[in-house]
Amino acid sequence: MALSEETRRKLRALAEMLGLFLVYVATARLGLTFDALAGVATTVWPPTGIAIAVICLSGRSRWPAVFLAAFVVNAATGIPHWTSALIATGNTAEALVAREILVRLRWRRDMERVHDVFALSAAALAATTVSASLGTTAVWLAHIPVNDGYGLFWMVWWVGDVLGALLIAPLIFVWSRPWRPGREPARWLEGAVLALLLAVVSLAVFYDLFPQKVVRLARGSYSIWPLLIWAVVRFRQRGGVLALLLVSLIAISGTAAGHGLFSGAGAIRTPSPHERLFRVQCFMAVTAVSMMFIAAALAERRQAILARDEFISIASHELKTPLTALRLRLSTALKVLGGERPGDPAAAEKAARAVAAATSTTDRLGRLIEDLLDVSRLTARRLDLAPEEIPVRDLLGEVAARLREAAVESGSPMVMAIDDAAGPLTATWDRGRIEQVVTNLLSNAIKYGSGREITIAAYALGDRIAIEVRDGGIGIAKADQERIFQAFERVESVHRVGGLGLGLYIGRQIAGAHGGTLRVTSEPGRGSTFVLDLPRAAVPRVPSTEREV
Ligand code: ADP
Repeated sequence: MALSEETRRKLRALAEMLGLFLVYVATARLGLTFDALAGVATTVWPPTGIAIAVICLSGRSRWPAVFLAAFVVNAATGIPHWTSALIATGNTAEALVAREILVRLRWRRDMERVHDVFALSAAALAATTVSASLGTTAVWLAHIPVNDGYGLFWMVWWVGDVLGALLIAPLIFVWSRPWRPGREPARWLEGAVLALLLAVVSLAVFYDLFPQKVVRLARGSYSIWPLLIWAVVRFRQRGGVLALLLVSLIAISGTAAGHGLFSGAGAIRTPSPHERLFRVQCFMAVTAVSMMFIAAALAERRQAILARDEFISIASHELKTPLTALRLRLSTALKVLGGERPGDPAAAEKAARAVAAATSTTDRLGRLIEDLLDVSRLTARRLDLAPEEIPVRDLLGEVAARLREAAVESGSPMVMAIDDAAGPLTATWDRGRIEQVVTNLLSNAIKYGSGREITIAAYALGDRIAIEVRDGGIGIAKADQERIFQAFERVESVHRVGGLGLGLYIGRQIAGAHGGTLRVTSEPGRGSTFVLDLPRAAVPRVPSTEREV
C-alpha cells in the first residue's frame, strides 16, 4: 500500500525525532562522564549544539525530543523528577531561544557571511544563559550540594553549553548541505597531511606526546592556529569545522585525563578537573569563533570576486548590445546618404529615421552609464538632492508620455489613476531623481508586464504621497522580493530580458534619500505592485561623509 505524502512526512518527522533523542542521550551521557558537578553540570555538553541545529533546520516542532532526552539523561543521575523536568525545560528553551535569535538576525545556515558567525556567537552566548540559569535554580531548589558555590556551577554549565553550540551546531549546519566531494588526489592528500599534522601537534600540546623538556617549553596553544587557518583557507567552512572538532576532541580528552598545557601540572595550586576543562573550553570557544570568522570573511571575498566577474560580463554585454545597434543604424544612414540619388526625399527620410533611432540608442547607452555612475556615487554616499516644488500629475504624465511608444510596442495599455480630488497633489522632491525612479518602475512594468494593463496611481496619505506602478505580468517570487533591491540582483529566469539589475537598487536609495521607501508586493503569474512612498517635502538625509565624526 502506497503511503500518502502526509503520512510519509509524519513518519520522517518521527524518525528524525527518534534520531535526535538517541544522539542527544548518547552525547549527553558522554558529556557527563567529564567530571560533572553535582552529577549534572559539565563543561562538555555537545547536546546543546545538536538541539539548536535540529530545531533551526527542521523547525520548532522537534522540541519534544529535546525535552524528553534531557529529562531522561538527568533523571538517570538520580536527582528528583521535578528537578530533571526543570532542567529539561531549560535545555529545550535554550534551543528555541537560539533559533529565535538566529531567525531575527537573518542568519544563514551556510555560515558564509561574517554576519552569520556573529549571529551564531550571539545566539550561543545569550540562549545558553537560559539553560544555565534554570539548571542552577533547579539544583539549588532541590538542595543538591555544590562544591564551589552556585556561581562557579552556573559558569561551568554555561561554558559547556556555549561550546556545544559553537562547535557542534556549525558542524551540522555546514555538513548537512549537499556536498560533492572533490576528485583531485592532491587535494585528498593535502587534507590527510593536514589532519595528521593537526593530530600530532594537538597531541603534543594537549597530551604531552613528546614529554621532553624542550618540547614542553616551546609548545603553546598558538601552535594549533596556523594549521587551523590552513584548514579554513584551503578547505573552507567544511574543513574548518572538522579541524576544530578534531582539535577539541584531543584537547578536551587530554586535559580531562590530566595531560597537556591546560593540566596545570607544576602550577602552585593544581587546578581541579573542572577548572582545567573550563580553561580548555574557553580556549576552544575563542579559537572556534576566530576560525569561523576567518572562514566567513574569505567566503565573502570569494563571493565579491564572483559578483564582480559576473557584473563585468553582464555590463559588457549590456553596453555592447546598444553599441551594435548604434553601429547598424549609423551605417544604414551612411549608406542611404551616400546612395546613388542624392537629394532623393525618400532616401533623406530613411536616413533621418536611422539617425533618430541611433539617437535613442545613444540615450539608452547614456542611461546605462548614468546607472553605473549612480552606483559609484551611492557607494561613496554622494547622492545630492535638489528638491523643488512639483505637481505630481505633471511628473507622472511626462514619464508616461516618454514611455508610451515602448508600452504600445509591448501591447500594455497604460492607465493613470491620480487621486487629486482634494486638490492637486504637489510635493517638494528632486524632480530628476523621482522621474528616474518612476521611469525605471514603468519600464520594468513594460518589460515584465506580459502585455497586460499597467496602472500608474498616486494618492495622498496624510503628509506623504504614494506613487504606485501596477502590472499584471510575470510577478516576483516571495524569495526574490527583497533581493531585487540589491545592486546587480536580478531574477534568474528573466535573464534574457536586458538590464543591469541596478534600477531598483538605485530607486530604493533615492527613496531613502528623500526620507521615503520603495517596496513591492507581488504574486508570481499575477503581477507586481511597486509602491514609492515619500514625504510630501523631502527630508534629505545628511550624507554620512559630511557628518561630524
Ligand atoms: P533591471 O530591470 O535593469 O534588471 P531592476 O533593478 O530594475 O534591474 O530590476 C531587478 C530585477 O527585478 C529584474 O531583473 C527583474 O528580474 C525583477 N523585476 C523588476 N520589476 C519587475 C516587475 N514589474 N515584474 C517582474 N519582475 C520584476
